[in-house]
Amino acid sequence: MKKRTKDKVLSILDRKAIRRHVFLPSKTEIWTVIGEEGDNLVSEKPTFCSCKDFYFSLLKKEKKFCYHLSAFVAAKKRNMYSTFYYEDAEFESFMNLLFKEIK
Ligand SMILES: [Zn+2]
Repeated sequence: MKKRTKDKVLSILDRKAIRRHVFLPSKTEIWTVIGEEGDNLVSEKPTFCSCKDFYFSLLKKEKKFCYHLSAFVAAKKRNMYSTFYYEDAEFESFMNLLFKEIK
């Protein structure tokens, strides 16, 4: 990992910028990482991040982790994330808001 990438990952962990959103009663889980450019939707299986870096690495078939995904995996291992609970009825408006944040 490049030093600059590592710094970004550490800064996300420091800021506790990894969030787990749980919708009840379905227990649907959504994870977001607040990066330098705003919120990003991340997922481990399948590996996915909504940022441009990840998108372009997919296009180039590099399958590289962007710094959001690296931070996400590290935070999960160390339990360094915040959990928020919602009702299933809020899911749609939550996703709408999230996609407004993603540039
Ligand atoms: Zn990303």
